[in-house]
Amino acid sequence: MNKLSPDSLAGFLGHDPADSLGAVKTPIYQSSTYVFESAAQMKALFAYKNGQARWPENEAEPMAYGRWNHPGLQTLEARLKVWDGGEAALAFSSGMAALSAVWMSRLRPGDSILYSVPLYGGSLAFIQKQLAAFGIVGIPFEVTETADSLFYRLEKDGLTEKVNVIHVESPCNPHNLLFDFDTISALKARLGTAQKRPIVTVDNTYFGPIFQQPLRFGADIVIYSATKFIGGHSDVIAGACVGSQALIDEVRSWRTQLGTTAEPFSCFLLLRSLETLRIRMEKAAENASKLARFLQQHPKVSQIYYPELNNQNSSQYQLYKKYCNGPGSMISFDILGDEAAAFRFLDALRLIRLAVSLGGTESLCTHPATTSHAPMSAAEKAHYGIGPSMIRFSVGLEAVNDLEDDLKQALAAV
Ligand code: PLP
Repeated sequence: MNKLSPDSLAGFLGHDPADSLGAVKTPIYQSSTYVFESAAQMKALFAYKNGQARWPENEAEPMAYGRWNHPGLQTLEARLKVWDGGEAALAFSSGMAALSAVWMSRLRPGDSILYSVPLYGGSLAFIQKQLAAFGIVGIPFEVTETADSLFYRLEKDGLTEKVNVIHVESPCNPHNLLFDFDTISALKARLGTAQKRPIVTVDNTYFGPIFQQPLRFGADIVIYSATKFIGGHSDVIAGACVGSQALIDEVRSWRTQLGTTAEPFSCFLLLRSLETLRIRMEKAAENASKLARFLQQHPKVSQIYYPELNNQNSSQYQLYKKYCNGPGSMISFDILGDEAAAFRFLDALRLIRLAVSLGGTESLCTHPATTSHAPMSAAEKAHYGIGPSMIRFSVGLEAVNDLEDDLKQALAAV
């Protein structure tokens, strides 16, 4: 069975129809609590949960309380882990719940978190406000930095033993910039102590798990906003993480006490979504690949940011070939003109919706400079090339000709 691909396992792994009157799908068990077989079983489970006893090997842990576990969650987590090749997975009530539990399971006052920039705004805010409030120092790094330059920078500030998490978002929003996992692994090997190295966490929301599997390239925990491609229909807010059993067990205890476990209906939706994950992501990428070429040649588009279309001699293209199995379906592009030109384009769209988020079946556009990246100063936006006429485009599953027609007529309105 282990040899089966995640696509095949997505339909049945972790669910025995005999447990639910023969139902092919894991039903929604809308129950907050579960009946024990005996008082002794109840006592044994509490002793285990409180760390006073081990749970007997080869004996399934009973369902007890929805914040700890429930059937939909168990099935979902069994299936989630196989896509990334991890030992264990957890599902959360949002992507931010996943990111925050993973980081809090690892970071203590006085520690540092090294993070790639630009970073998703919610992640950045959590590092700069919530983690900072606990005396945890955030240190940004850019795509151009090498393992040596980063190490010497940290050494100069006496931080080489303080970094406990290296967080990478790759590709990152809005330019689809890719970070080099080998650089991160080389840095990790030189930080911390021989007894305790930092862990590498990767936000794989944009490409994963179909087009990139960072656990294969040295990441310790892969994190998702499952609201995006994994959910894929813009109808659920959820998160996930995947990694080794030991690391995931630590995160699980944080999730349980924080109370951010994914609830039954979300798990049902995600289970349904996982069965079509590959065909959705591949079809969306196929559409995006065609539309990116159309946009690249359009006289009103000055620049396009899409991994497949990077100059083939560039380091970004080499990273794309080294780590990714496909270009994804997120395109950013600059329209010739200013903010007003970008707004004319956005307001003229008919089929493509003006909405935040990404990775759904429907196509969406946003204006990064005034939305996701609005908190940045003008100097920061200029530094990162987030210009006033930049558009971010999440390509969906509509007929590609209809999408192209919509782009054409909206560009004509610029
Ligand atoms: N990571 C990335 C790259 C995102 O784009 C988002 C949300 O937009 C998140 C994390 C946070 O996920 P959620 O909104 O599900 O909490």
